[in-house]
Amino acid sequence: MHFLRLFCAYTTIALISVFRLFLSDPLMHLILLGPPGTGKGTISEFIEAKFEAEHVSTGDLLRDEVAKKTEIGKSVEPILNKGALVDDSVVVQVLRKKLSQAKAKNFILDGFPRNLNQAKILDWLLHELDVSLDAVLNIDSSEDVIIKRLSARRQCVKCKRIYGLDVPSKKKGVCDDCGAKTMQRKDDKPSIIKKRLRLYNELTLPLIFFYGGKGLLIHVDGNRPLQEIFEEVETVLKKFDG
Ligand SMILES: [Zn+2]
Repeated sequence: MHFLRLFCAYTTIALISVFRLFLSDPLMHLILLGPPGTGKGTISEFIEAKFEAEHVSTGDLLRDEVAKKTEIGKSVEPILNKGALVDDSVVVQVLRKKLSQAKAKNFILDGFPRNLNQAKILDWLLHELDVSLDAVLNIDSSEDVIIKRLSARRQCVKCKRIYGLDVPSKKKGVCDDCGAKTMQRKDDKPSIIKKRLRLYNELTLPLIFFYGGKGLLIHVDGNRPLQEIFEEVETVLKKFDG
C-alpha cells in the first residue's frame, strides 16, 4: 500500500511537470520599435547572437525582393528609393512567408508594424500562425543623434550587413564578412531621413499606446552608448528566454 501511494505521488508530480512544459512557451518572440537610426539593426544583431533569435526585418525582406528582381521587388523599388512606405498588403505577403518559418525559433520583428492598422493586421497574422508575442521593445533617440547616425551608415551590397558610427567596417567601403563593397542606402540621405522621421512619428506613436495597453511595452533609452543599451536589453529579455 505504501509503495502504491508513493508511486501515485511520483506519477502526479511527473504529470504536472509535463503539463508545465507544454503550458510555458519557451520561445521568445519580440517586436522592435524605434525611429530609423536608433541603432535598431545593431541591437537586433546583439539579441540575435545572445538569444539565438532570428532577425526578421521587413525592410531587408523587401530589399531582398528588389535584389532578386521579383514582381514584388520591381513594384516596391521606386517606393523604397523615395523613402515612402510600401503598401500593407505587400508587406504582409512577404512577412507571412517569413514568419511561418521563423516561428519555430526565437525571433525579433523589425520594421513592422509601423502604424496602428498594421499592428492590428499583425495581431491577426500572429493568431493565424499560432504565435504569441512576449514583448515590444521601444528604442528612443533624439533627432540630432539619429541624423548623425544615419548619415554615417553603410550597408553591404551582398550580405546586407550594416555598418555605422558605432560599428564601422575595418576597411572603409569593404564588408568585413564577405569582402563586397558597402554603400550608403538611397533612403539614408539627410533630406530623406527627415522625411522618414516625420512619417515615423506621425504613424508610430499610436503603437506605443496600443502595446502599452496590452502590457507588452518595454522602453529603452537609445541616446546612450551601445554597450549600456546591450546590458539593459540582456537583463530585460532574460526572463522571456527558455
Ligand atoms: Zn557583406
